[in-house]
Amino acid sequence: MLDRRSDEGQTITMTELRRHFHKIMNRVAAGQEFIVTMRGNPTVRISPIGVKEVPSMNKENTERLYSDFDHLFRDRNKPEKESLMCWGFTCGDGWFPLVYAIARMITEYVKAHPEAECAAFQVKEKFGGLRFYIRGGDDTLHRMIWEEAQKSFAICETCSAPAIVRTSPTGAVRTLCDGCYPAWRTTWRPESARLI
Ligand SMILES: [Zn+2]
Repeated sequence: MLDRRSDEGQTITMTELRRHFHKIMNRVAAGQEFIVTMRGNPTVRISPIGVKEVPSMNKENTERLYSDFDHLFRDRNKPEKESLMCWGFTCGDGWFPLVYAIARMITEYVKAHPEAECAAFQVKEKFGGLRFYIRGGDDTLHRMIWEEAQKSFAICETCSAPAIVRTSPTGAVRTLCDGCYPAWRTTWRPESARLI
């Protein structure tokens, strides 16, 4: 175990977590992050500031992105060590319109600038914002994607309404509207680490 790395730590299966719980918790205490997968999908992130559920886009929205931008998301079936698109879109459905707009922007840019050919590498929520990583592209395209993704800090990750960035007592961060925020608050459990 512990040989699979992503850009933010290591992925482990639920079985490995149970089997090596003490060893893993020692590493978390030393500052390392782990992402626990179930049936190949990231499920929770264990970090020094707490345990967090990994959000994921629903099947309908995911399939729509794959079918409308088949070329951009062509690495989705590659193994994890080649592309993290194998995890799907690890953000809420409220950001679907923004992810769609960025995918269309990239596709149109590459059409006009063939030298900026690229493939989506990972699309996820991090620190309350959308991250849309590509393999390839050029500096202009990377800047355009970053600027578009900044809009996520004002869009509810759950329902697309205007939102602000919220922080939980354990340091978890999510961008939510006034309507969706209370539901997230009910998930704050200081004892949540014990649920594993
Ligand atoms: Zn909302």
